[in-house]
Amino acid sequence: MDMSDLVNDPLVKFQRAFYIPLIILIWGAVPTYIPYYLWGESVWNAWFVCVMLRYTAVVNLTWCVNSAAHMYGMKPYDGSIVPVEADMRHYLVGEGFHNYHHTFPWDYSASELGWMDAFNPATAFIDAFASIGWAYDLKKASDDMVKKRQTRCGDVHYKHKSRFMEHLTGSFVLTLPVWSFFLLRMNVWLMPVVVVVILLVGNQPNGFSRKQKVK
Ligand SMILES: [Zn+2]
Repeated sequence: MDMSDLVNDPLVKFQRAFYIPLIILIWGAVPTYIPYYLWGESVWNAWFVCVMLRYTAVVNLTWCVNSAAHMYGMKPYDGSIVPVEADMRHYLVGEGFHNYHHTFPWDYSASELGWMDAFNPATAFIDAFASIGWAYDLKKASDDMVKKRQTRCGDVHYKHKSRFMEHLTGSFVLTLPVWSFFLLRMNVWLMPVVVVVILLVGNQPNGFSRKQKVK
C-alpha cells in the first residue's frame, strides 16, 4: 500500500525521528510530574499509579480485543470462525463487533449498525472525518450481502440490543473513570463491580443462554 503521503508528512516525520524521547516524555515523565507538582503527590505514587497502573490497564483492555472478542459472545454472521460479537464489546470501544469484523474485514465500520443504532465510537470518529472530507471511499457491506451470509453461515435469530440499552451502556463505559473515581473515594468499592456485572448480563444479546443457534 502506498503510504508515501503519510510518511512524508512533517508531523509524522517529527514523531518518527524523536520516537523514544517523545515516549519518555509523554508516556512517563509528564503523567508522573503533574500529580507531583500540582497536588504534592510523592514521585513513587505518581509513577506507579499514573504510569504503571494506567499502562497496565490500557494495554490489558486493548489486548481484550484479541482475547474476549474471540471468546465470549454470539456468532451471528459466521458460525465457523472463532471471533464473536463480544459480550463486553462496549468496553472495547468499537472493536467488539468481532464476528462481523472477521466476516467482512474490509467494512470500515466493523459492524452492520452505524453509531446511532449501536455504541460504536470508532465508526462515529470515522464518520465525523468523512463528513468534512478527510476520510473517503468508505467500504460497507450491503444489507443484502449481510443477510445472505448470515443465512448461509450464521444465525439469523440473532437479536440486536435496543438503541437505549446500547447508549446507556456506552455512556456508562465512557464515563467509567469519572464515576469509579468518586465511588472509590466514597469507599463503595463493591458498587462498580455490581454495575459492571449487571450491565454485562443485561447486554447478553439473546438473554442468558450462550447456546449458539447455528443451522
Ligand atoms: Zn480478531
